[in-house]
Amino acid sequence: MFIGHFAVGFASKRWAPRTNFGVLLLAPLLADVIWPVLILAGVEHARLVPNANPFLVLRLDDIPWSHSLLMDLVWAGLFGALVLRGADGRRGAVVVAVGVLSHWVLDWITHTPDMALWPGGPPLGLGLWNSVPGTMIVESAMFVAGVWLYARATRPRNRVGSLALWALVGLLSLSYAAQPFSPPPPSITAVGVAALVMTVLILFWAVWIDRHREAVA
Ligand SMILES: [Zn+2]
Repeated sequence: MFIGHFAVGFASKRWAPRTNFGVLLLAPLLADVIWPVLILAGVEHARLVPNANPFLVLRLDDIPWSHSLLMDLVWAGLFGALVLRGADGRRGAVVVAVGVLSHWVLDWITHTPDMALWPGGPPLGLGLWNSVPGTMIVESAMFVAGVWLYARATRPRNRVGSLALWALVGLLSLSYAAQPFSPPPPSITAVGVAALVMTVLILFWAVWIDRHREAVA
């Protein structure tokens, strides 16, 4: 899943209005931030397989540390503990922990079987990805709802607060729409580097948006 994870981050603002948007977005993306790091480090393994499914040119052979439910529970607990002292307190911690865990649930629904309950467990996945329209409808609806919740929970302090938000929404929508048509990546290293750079840039973008928007009281 791609923009469905972002949708969760956007929506989170509704329930944790004083937590930085960058933090809220990182939570549901966390597994996909850990994943490229571990691929580049050679700890997790994936292969380029043309037409693995309409949305992915990868076969995720071995992603136990970033994408098993048990490890995602660990990451959720750690991330929640870090946010506990933040502005939204326990509520913020629960929101980010749910965000981290939502990644597993959403990937389990979309992926062809490669999602384990624990490292080494049997691979699971409902395979929504096999249907291009099904995937696009589900993810787009989630994204629209998430952005709507975010836009209602916050208001711009200035023009940047508006422009930066809608530019990010536009970029994510465009890159999602272009995904099934983009050329295959040259190597798994390129996939890892691109995923990591893109996500980190977007997270800083979210922090920047947060500085120019405020929670609606
Ligand atoms: Zn994932």
